[in-house]
Formats: sequence, C-alpha cells, structure tokens
Amino acid sequence: MSQNRIEMSVSCQDDYDPDSLRVDEAVRRVHAQLRPVDGFEQVALRDALGRVLAEDVYSKIDVPGHTNSAMDGFAIRGADIPADGARSLAIIGTAFAGRPFHGECGEGDCVRIMTGAPMPAGADSVVIVERAEVQGESIRVGADNESGQNVRAAGEDIARDDKVLAAGRRLLPAHLGLLASLGIGEVKVRRRLRVAFFSTGDELKSIGEPLTMGDVYDSNRYTLHGMLTRLGTDIIDMGVVRDEPFALEEAFKQAARLADVVITSGGVSMGEADFIKQTLGKLGQIDFWKIAMKPGRPLAFGRIDNGGVGAWFFGLPGNPVTVMVTFYVFVQPALQELMGAPPSPPLTLKLPCVAKLKKRPGRVEYQRGVMERGEQGQLTVRKTGAQGSGILTSMATADCFIVLPMESGNVEPDNEVEVLPFSNFV
Ligand code: AMP
Ligand code: MG
Repeated sequence: MSQNRIEMSVSCQDDYDPDSLRVDEAVRRVHAQLRPVDGFEQVALRDALGRVLAEDVYSKIDVPGHTNSAMDGFAIRGADIPADGARSLAIIGTAFAGRPFHGECGEGDCVRIMTGAPMPAGADSVVIVERAEVQGESIRVGADNESGQNVRAAGEDIARDDKVLAAGRRLLPAHLGLLASLGIGEVKVRRRLRVAFFSTGDELKSIGEPLTMGDVYDSNRYTLHGMLTRLGTDIIDMGVVRDEPFALEEAFKQAARLADVVITSGGVSMGEADFIKQTLGKLGQIDFWKIAMKPGRPLAFGRIDNGGVGAWFFGLPGNPVTVMVTFYVFVQPALQELMGAPPSPPLTLKLPCVAKLKKRPGRVEYQRGVMERGEQGQLTVRKTGAQGSGILTSMATADCFIVLPMESGNVEPDNEVEVLPFSNFV
C-alpha cells in the first residue's frame, strides 16, 4: 500500500505524522553518505575471524593437490571392470593417505587404497572394500562397478589461480579453514572500525553507585558494548555524560578525536533535543529526524567535524529497547558499510501469530517476539508481553522482531506476520 493511502486515512486512530521520515528513506540517506574507512593490516589466520578481507584471495595450488580415493577399497583400471560376471585382479600393493604407492597399476592389477591416498599410476577407479570379494592375494570385482567411481579429481574443489574469496568478505570459521587448505597463513584485512559511545542523562548511574530517588542504572552502554563486540569493532566506552552543554561539547570533541563513529543514547527526544542540537550545531552537520517507526521515533545522524577531526554520529533515543531496535535498523548496517562489508538483506520468515497484536497504522513497528514449534513441527510466533520501549525484558525474552508494516492495523490471531530472527543480529 502506498504512503498516500496513509496520508489520506489520517485520523485520531492512527500514528501517522506527516513530518516523519520513512524507515527505508532514512536508511537510504545514511548509506548514501558512507564509504569504507581506509587502513589495512596483515593478520595471522587465527586472528582473522570476523575481520573483513581487504583484497581478493587467489589459490596458488590445486585442491585436492592429487587425484585421490574418496573411499577405502581397491584402486583399479576402469577398463578391467567386466561387462558381466566377475573378474579377478591381483593385489600388488597398498596406498595410504600420505604414503603413496609408487608402482604402476597395470592391466589385471589392483592396489589396496585408503581414503585420501593418491591414485596409483594407471588406476582411475576405486572399488569400495564392501564390494570387493577378497580371495587371498586377489579380489573379485563384479560388473556392477563403474569406471571413474569413488575418485576425487585434482583441483575439483579449487583449481590453481581460482579466486576463492572476494574483498569485503567477513571471515567465518569455514573461510579460515578454506584459507588454511590453501596454505595461506596470513591475510590482509581492513583495520577495525573504532566506535565511541556515551550515555546522556542526569538520572543515570553506573553499576556500583547507589541509586537515589529517580535514578536508573545505565544499561545502554552494556547492550551497545555487546552488539559492537559481536560486530567486531574497537570499542571506546566514554561513560555517562551529564545533560549539560559544556560536558556534552567536550565529550563530542574527544569522541570525534578517538573514533570513526560516535554513538550516544538519550537526549534526542522532544524537550531534550536542544542541548544536543545546540552542541552539535557548533560541531558538525547533523540531521534530527522523526522516523515513522515504533519504537525509535527520534534519531540524529550526521557528521561531527571539529577542526578537521571528524566522525560519523548516531544519536539514539534513551529508552533501552529503542536503543537496540534503532541500532539494529540503522547503526549496524551503517557500521558494516564502513567496515567494508556491506550487509545483505536480512532473512525474514512469514509466520502465523498466535494472538492478537495491537497496532495503529502510520508507523513500522518492531514488536518483540518468540518463535515456537508446535507438535507437528510448525512454527508460530507470539509477542513477549508488554511492549513498552523501556521494558528491556521484552528484548531479553525475545528471539525475533515481529515487523508490522507502516500501513498495518491490528493483527488478528493466526494472521501471518513478518518475523526477523535475532540470529541476524550479528
Ligand atoms: P531520553 O531519550 O533521554 O529522554 O530517555 C528516555 C528514557 O530512557 C528515560 O526514561 C531515561 O531514563 C531512559 N534512559 C536513557 N538513557 C538510559 C540508559 N543509558 N540506560 C537506561 N535507561 C536510559
Ligand atoms: Mg535523557
């Protein structure tokens, strides 16, 4: 449904704000500005997990290096397989993985062979041990075998000069194994992204401090720390900064000196925005957006530029759930872009929702859900209790977002909804 429909159907029953920005448009505006950061380093393979390849990797060898047996059995010449009945072949030796048989397998011969052992000269097929009838120093091979069977060709996995991994690939365990299989012990990767963050709010206390009336413990720095750690960035935790212009200005200047990206939480909602707005007005080009999403309406994005020292800036709202949702929707893909590994679209599922969900048209909602498997194996989703943006237990018990599109109203039981599992949450 188009946005026009929503504009036309504005009523007190919906959440549409004509000044708001669509989520996809905000994502597009952020990405339009970003380029990967410069800087590379050479790292040992074991230290390369989660890092982003800075250049394409080519193989210098064939994998496997030699044509070898895929099974334990007997290497034979395919031409010796009888058209019918069975034929006797003389066992002339044994080939082990790492200890090849150096003779030639001639007509009427066979060589006992283990999985991974190079094929002896002359042989091109392997009869598996279960199908070879051993009689003393010979075997009997039946007509039910095929020439070329049970053999892995040299270079069948990777041929010399093949491109095996492309620049921009974020390295996972399989990639480390693949590189090791090519004898590559070091790779050139992009340098880690440096991300600084701080929380703003006079009511915030750090763990270990006593709470007085109206105080809350700062949890956002911990969720941010966790999400950034999983993304593999360097982390600069700058603590809590008071809602006070001078303190904020100093914090922004320091953060921009230390980091590529600065993330704050709190202080961008109505009534509070001015402090941060004032401060950033002096320090850079920042947009303050009202996003058509829930949670996460206010969001600030732009560039801090303090005398040539710059950093990207994301100002997230303070509510703990909102921080996680806006990080997921806006910050994480932006950081991936800056890391040189642009994200692929997340995998989503369409699942029946077991109970009614309340929703007003006009904003995209990210409700927190739990997927459940029924007795027949079918998946369904339900929301995790109360959905207030301060209720962090709704995130802690969830394993997915239920994404309700802008135009959707209430969801009735058994209606299908779009589900975004957290496994994509890096
Ligand atoms: P704000 O966006 O600053 O108006 O904050 C919105 C709500 O989130 C308020 O109830 C704050 O107390 C709470 N909040 C802000 N920052 C944090 C934080 N770092 N940890 C936990 N709660 C926070
Ligand atoms: Mg605040």
